[in-house]
Amino acid sequence: MRSDLPDFDLFAPESLPAALETLAREPGQWRPFAGGTDLMVLLEAGKLPSARYLSLWHLRELAGIEVTDNEIVIGALTTYTDIMESRAIQDECPLLCNAAAETGGVATQNRGTIGGNIANASPAADTPPALLVYDAQIELISVRGTRRVAYDRFHLGYKQMDLAPDELIRAIRVTRGRGRWLTSWRKVGTRRAQAISKVCLAAALELDASGKAVRDIRIAFGSVAPTVVRAAHAESAARGRTLNAETIAKSCEALGRDIKPIDDLRSTAAYRLRVAGNLLEEFLVAATSRAS
Ligand SMILES: Cc1cc2nc3c(=O)[nH]c(=O)nc-3n(C[C@H](O)[C@H](O)[C@H](O)COP(=O)(O)OP(=O)(O)OC[C@H]3O[C@@H](n4cnc5c(N)ncnc54)[C@H](O)[C@@H]3O)c2cc1C
Repeated sequence: MRSDLPDFDLFAPESLPAALETLAREPGQWRPFAGGTDLMVLLEAGKLPSARYLSLWHLRELAGIEVTDNEIVIGALTTYTDIMESRAIQDECPLLCNAAAETGGVATQNRGTIGGNIANASPAADTPPALLVYDAQIELISVRGTRRVAYDRFHLGYKQMDLAPDELIRAIRVTRGRGRWLTSWRKVGTRRAQAISKVCLAAALELDASGKAVRDIRIAFGSVAPTVVRAAHAESAARGRTLNAETIAKSCEALGRDIKPIDDLRSTAAYRLRVAGNLLEEFLVAATSRAS
């Protein structure tokens, strides 16, 4: 049931510098508003204390996907549809396309942005596990200048971020060169579409020259901890090892040291732990069949 919308101010600055000036002049008073797909739900439910919103939607300085020699630079305003349509992201960051394709429905994909998904800071969000796998860097901007934060250090705790009140996410930077890795992106929810995940896996693996051993591996999960997490122990148990049943068993066992799921309204800790292990095993077994 919808409540009446409370009164609010929406200011649409003419440029990025004007937006940053506004945030710097009254830090914490203006809430950035990108696609609004998270914010409108909260606003309509009367759950937002803020009444002043800074529209980012038309700020082209925050939009667009740029491909350089070493990086793909994804503007914060890039929508899920933009991600799915980008040839560079399809080729080099397929996990991001997988995540975008399973995020909400078409309307949400046309309007929701990757910057909003990150700044909403939900441990159940769908692009963050893929961003962890790709070692993404977050580029932040304010009147004080720009800075970069490794994405695995950006979320400090549940809904807490290394983001000052006067800063905006400007872009997400992903290093190129992992397009040929074997990948898996799996979201387990209550139903096939429009569901928040109970467990989400993004994983990528590179075989060595022999085609039998794991040269490098990245495993990340959503919905199993206060923030999205890399499974460092599970990775270590597989990295440099021959990809066989013993390695898979050790990696899945080590996963128990990486994730700390909780019981909540969407699922139980025991279910999440079990499913996370199953998803990891499924990925590694599938990779075994690709090993020569
Ligand atoms: C029907 C529906 C289905 C959904 N399904 C999914 C799903 O399957 N998976 C999933 O992960 N999410 C889902 N979402 C959530 C939402 O669509 C995403 O999180 C989306 O990416 C948010 O982007 P936005 O641009 O709409 O953010 P907004 O709602 O505009 O903002 C979200 C938060 O980010 C902040 N923010 C936005 N941009 C910036 C910036 N550049 N710098 C700093 N802060 C910023 C805002 O202040 C706010 O706190 C769904 C939402 C709806 C309504």
